[in-house]
Amino acid sequence: SPLPDYLTEVLSVCSKGAGATSDHIPELKNADPDRFAISLVTAEGVTYSVGDDETEFSIQSISKPFVYGLALEEQGFEKVLDRIGVEPSGEAFNEISLQRDTGRPLNPMINAGALTAHALVCDNATAESRVEAIRSLLSSMAGRELEVDDAIAASELNASFRNVAIANLLRNYQSFPDDPDDVVAGYVGQCSVKVNTVDLAMMAATLAGGGVQPRTGERIFSRSVVRQVLSVMATCGMYDAAGDWLSTVGIPAKSGISGGIIGVLPGQLGIAVYSPRLDEHGTSVRGVEAFERLSHDMNLHLMEAP
Ligand code: GLU
Repeated sequence: SPLPDYLTEVLSVCSKGAGATSDHIPELKNADPDRFAISLVTAEGVTYSVGDDETEFSIQSISKPFVYGLALEEQGFEKVLDRIGVEPSGEAFNEISLQRDTGRPLNPMINAGALTAHALVCDNATAESRVEAIRSLLSSMAGRELEVDDAIAASELNASFRNVAIANLLRNYQSFPDDPDDVVAGYVGQCSVKVNTVDLAMMAATLAGGGVQPRTGERIFSRSVVRQVLSVMATCGMYDAAGDWLSTVGIPAKSGISGGIIGVLPGQLGIAVYSPRLDEHGTSVRGVEAFERLSHDMNLHLMEAP
């Protein structure tokens, strides 16, 4: 059929070789830099997938929108919005940016906001139970049981000085009651859940379908939570490249430093791309290129009049 042929062509035309695997987490440096996969899942659950779509990698920051959604479901909008803003920061993922006076993180996509969202899951529970709740949520959206990659988690935890600093700063502002080290340990576990592009496209399709997993029919998020999650993905999902991304690609998205990117077209499609070489924003070079091509060739830009 023409769509898989087209996707295979996208794999072959995207430039090879530019960028480098993340040196932010030692273990990520060892990823095979030449892996490349694209998966699409429609809101009805039809899957199209090409390339290294069985290669597993840690989800990293692509977990952030889902954990924000979980916090909203569990704690309600008022409490979550009181703790985490929805303004784009225009800054890098690990920027130490908190609102002056209140210490409130600007949005749930940068690490400060993601650590706060993580701490809101399973009120007062242990890092272990938060990671398990998140692993289970991500598994329901993927439609299969996912696992935590302990080697990645250990590698990141040993190098988490900056996230520990951010967590301590948040704790200082009473953003969460927990022990900052425990929040970072749980957050690192959240980032280490292993996925492939089909899993990620299923998760994206769950958002595209208004919160219903397209294969199992399970309602994972309410419609209002999905709307909130997609809004912050559109404005903050690509960190300091969010404006550039929204104007060129025009799809709410989230990147992760292991090399994945997801995109969501409400009512239509979930998209996931994987290629571990990163640009200066910590975003997959070929992932961005593939999304630009898909958006252009398939007319996916949401600001384009039909
Ligand atoms: N675990 C990474 C961190 O918090 C995630 C960063 C990312 O994927 O953008 O530093």
